[in-house]
Amino acid sequence: MSTDPRHHEFNLAPYAATAARSRGRAHVEPAPAYRSEYQRDRDRIIHSGAFRRLEYKTQVFVNHEGDMFRTRLTHSVEVAQIARTIARTLQLNEDLTEAIALAHDLGHTPFGHAGQDALNACMKDYGGFEHNLQSLRVVDKLEERYADFAGLNLSFETREGILKHCALSKAVELGDVGERFVNKRQPGLEAQLANVADEIAYNNHDVDDGLRSGLVTLEQLHEVALFRAQYDEVKRAYPQLSQRRAIHEVVRRMINVQVTDLVETSRQRLRAAAPDDIEAVRAHGTPLIGFSDHMREQNLDLKRFLRKQLYQHYRVRRMSAKAQRVIHALFEVFMADPQLLPPEYAQHSARLREAHGEAGHARACADYIAGMTDRYAIAEHERVLNPAQLT
Ligand code: MG
Repeated sequence: MSTDPRHHEFNLAPYAATAARSRGRAHVEPAPAYRSEYQRDRDRIIHSGAFRRLEYKTQVFVNHEGDMFRTRLTHSVEVAQIARTIARTLQLNEDLTEAIALAHDLGHTPFGHAGQDALNACMKDYGGFEHNLQSLRVVDKLEERYADFAGLNLSFETREGILKHCALSKAVELGDVGERFVNKRQPGLEAQLANVADEIAYNNHDVDDGLRSGLVTLEQLHEVALFRAQYDEVKRAYPQLSQRRAIHEVVRRMINVQVTDLVETSRQRLRAAAPDDIEAVRAHGTPLIGFSDHMREQNLDLKRFLRKQLYQHYRVRRMSAKAQRVIHALFEVFMADPQLLPPEYAQHSARLREAHGEAGHARACADYIAGMTDRYAIAEHERVLNPAQLT
């Protein structure tokens, strides 16, 4: 057996990413002794502080609502699991796929999308806030763990995968990873895959969490074709099965049909396009990893359902409204007085202010707030705004 850390890259499809064809790291480093370059990326992500904080950040439900709901950490692990299976099946680079999947949500604010919308509104006059750009900022700049460079110094392909979308004006500022948005090119297949796996993971776990929370009902979900097909089949085959267990079985089958469709469709597209290498993948006009039209429609239906019945549910909206007030209040307080920031962020603010003026200070406040977990944000809000807490 080969002891070369890259040995598993020898069996990949020609269009997969490999260390040999990588565009490399911003800061050149010697090759790792026991791991592939993308394994090293994945390991750096797992050891980052931002990754650990994902445990106490939420997507839809606030973290303290219950121990059974997904957090951004378990979501990221689910995305990685789904994406790795598909990567191996399609002979893509599993390590790179996993690294992108684990890093894709690092830049999320506390309180899910409500938090991101609030912080974006706060940053309106200072360049805005976007979680996807923030994920890149976390791995490129904010994690300070290595003596030789700022950030995690990840490979180009991992960074390319983290940056899923990007406004044109920002793309120009970003340089290398922004280029594809200017030139209208695609990212590598591993990045395309991690992106779709994200969608599969959250649609299905939101069904599961939605039902568990009682915010959506089986009767409502039965109107969604993707759910109905699996539910009816499970009920037919196992009429005695408890409701809870039946739901798990349905969700499992929903993930399975989506993964199967994705693998089959992507395989056909790859066969037809037959890209020679990752550069040909990038130059291809459309993504090569994707669902069939039929599955995409079904997926959109499910998404529409979740948006209407779950994300807009009055109880979720109440939670979101409170969360937004917490973010706005924190931002306002720190914007007005940088000396209220903890010392490391006060220094961060001073450095950014020197380079970018008021907008630099605002960016430092956004970095601080975006890095908070749900419960830290609530506690910090108490500490800086509750006059009863004077100590
Ligand atoms: Mg995600």
